[in-house]
Amino acid sequence: MGGKGLLIVISGPSGAGKGTVCQEYLKRHPETLLSISMTTRAPRKGEIDGVNYYFRDVETFEKLIEEDCFLEYAKVYGNYYGTPKGFVKQKLLSGRDVILEIDIQGALQVKEKFHEGVFIFIVPPTMEELKKRIEGRGSETAEELQRRFNSSFKELQFITRYNYMVINDRVEDAVMKIESIVTAEKCRVERNMSFYSELKGGIDNDLSIFR
Ligand code: 5GP
Repeated sequence: MGGKGLLIVISGPSGAGKGTVCQEYLKRHPETLLSISMTTRAPRKGEIDGVNYYFRDVETFEKLIEEDCFLEYAKVYGNYYGTPKGFVKQKLLSGRDVILEIDIQGALQVKEKFHEGVFIFIVPPTMEELKKRIEGRGSETAEELQRRFNSSFKELQFITRYNYMVINDRVEDAVMKIESIVTAEKCRVERNMSFYSELKGGIDNDLSIFR
């Protein structure tokens, strides 16, 4: 059966492990695509332009905002991040599922414009674990780490704006839950109306067979 792909929006506080969960999901579902965002932040060690992000300067980013090229964009920790509109729309129309791994501000913007999306919030099993994971990255200064932890804590309250919560205790379990969510979403009646019409059209509706 053809039809539109599913837009899967995944957010969660910094340190919840959403990146790892998304990567594992993509490994198991190579037909699903991850939207690569554009950002004005500098690449971290090992990050590659066009793979992790499109790294661009503020001027370029703001020009693209003016040209309405983003499905959503937000400033996170002082840097711009945005989702390329054309890529996402094109891929969904061609029937591919697309994952957006974006922050809460961005997810709320997408929710306004795109009611068919499925919005998943990844949470850590405990706040201690969250702190450990943020520290474990070792890529930021102490001040930056504290800032990330504080904002992660604040971000938790936005969970009520999402459709699903996935606790990321073990990555495999979190991935399995996302697989279940995707499967259930694809079975929703409102997503299958055209299939239903086709099915119904194939029935001989002549009730004389009962007489
Ligand atoms: P990082 O700098 O650690 O890669 O990402 C910082 C935050 O920005 C994360 O919460 C990440 O999910 C979010 N982010 C990444 N890409 C986008 C995007 O295109 N739009 C929005 N709104 N947030 C993004």
